[in-house]
Amino acid sequence: MLKTAAKQFCLYSGRCLASLSPAQRIIGHEKNLWVEYSALAIRHQAVNLGQGFPDFPPPQFLKDAWSEAVDIPSAHWYTRGQGYPRLVTALSDLYSPEFGRTINPMSEIMTSVGAYESLYAALTAFTDPGDEVILIEPHFDSYSVVVEVCGGKPVYVPLKPEGDPRNANNWVLDKAEFEGAFNSKTKLLMVNTPHNPIGKLFSAEEMEFIARTCEKHNVLIISDEVYERCVFPGHVHHRIATVPGAWDRTITVGSAGKSFSMTGYKLGWAIGPQELISKLQTVHQTAVYSAPTILQEVIARCVEREIQMKGHGDAYHTQLPQIMKDGCSQIMAACQDAGLDVVEPFGGYFILVDTSPLGLEFDTSQVEYDIQCVHWLTEHKKLAGIPLSLFFGKNKHISEKYIRLCFAKSEGTLKTGGDIIRDITK
Ligand code: PMP
Ligand code: GLN
Repeated sequence: MLKTAAKQFCLYSGRCLASLSPAQRIIGHEKNLWVEYSALAIRHQAVNLGQGFPDFPPPQFLKDAWSEAVDIPSAHWYTRGQGYPRLVTALSDLYSPEFGRTINPMSEIMTSVGAYESLYAALTAFTDPGDEVILIEPHFDSYSVVVEVCGGKPVYVPLKPEGDPRNANNWVLDKAEFEGAFNSKTKLLMVNTPHNPIGKLFSAEEMEFIARTCEKHNVLIISDEVYERCVFPGHVHHRIATVPGAWDRTITVGSAGKSFSMTGYKLGWAIGPQELISKLQTVHQTAVYSAPTILQEVIARCVEREIQMKGHGDAYHTQLPQIMKDGCSQIMAACQDAGLDVVEPFGGYFILVDTSPLGLEFDTSQVEYDIQCVHWLTEHKKLAGIPLSLFFGKNKHISEKYIRLCFAKSEGTLKTGGDIIRDITK
């Protein structure tokens, strides 16, 4: 059945502009969660713990990298499409020991405009109409949209709390349900760890199980690991690509914006075997050709610094886990003082808060409770968050009364947000 967009008419000729109507594939995807909820926060001048972006200033080493990069003439020119040589070399040096293999900088890495573009390129490079893509939900919103735009079918498998829901790592897959989602049409699986929005870190055993299942059904894996440097101290990030045998079918996606806490740096990368990365490159070279050169020069310098300082207290990737943990502890403490249960995360930017004790009553016949709750909190308490149900395609009932708050924030924002939370029931 054809989907129809709203009819538009030329103001000059009065002619129906039907021939200018959009392609079928984008109809129904006009709304964007981040556009909507960022506007809501601004409209009500709320403390924004909604969209996930650190609002603190850049560290000095980043500013230094910019002032040095600006003096390099070629940093202002077009560069190699698949990735700026200095950056892909630095990424290979950074990731090779972490993946336990030598990653070829020229053929096994592609840089992109944000992790978004790597995800888009990977999904569009491999999803044909009719293909099924398994999405573990809750999931980052763009996954399902891109799959649908490609004519693929998202197949949702939920993470469900087993035992105490207040521990993010207790949100697990039901193994039989997960295996049951695979069939001959299954092309791809998306996995995200550290997980947005739950804050779960998939264990080595979970990664092994997922990788084995994908191997059994000959399915590709896209592993979104943008929060890989935000794993709280004492916890471990497990990469599915390092499960024996999984490298050949896995594309791992990273983000400079997340790794250096400057989300405005829309620079990401995809890592994987040449046979897979070359297919992403086919999409990338036509869509954007290359990520911005100067940004790649800057990030190359930052990655080189991390490699030199590895394990040192001044390394950013040594500090970031504690910065994230401290932000999280502040929001958790405020929630505890207000009598609100949370799902304690172990990495990432986000914490889920159970809003049931607020005792809010809404008519949920049309709109989910958590959506109305976020609108109410933003308008009446000046605290902006994100409803959990928006990360679900199918199993929305699991989201119940949870909202997502971002703790990757400056001291000032955390203090003001924390004060609002403490007063929330008053
Ligand atoms: N994946 C996840 C899970 C995210 O939360 C985000 C949000 N930034 C992205 C990918 C996109 O990252 P980037 O900003 O580098 O495009
Ligand atoms: N990744 C961010 C989040 O989950 C938002 C991405 C965006 O703003 N488009 O909050």
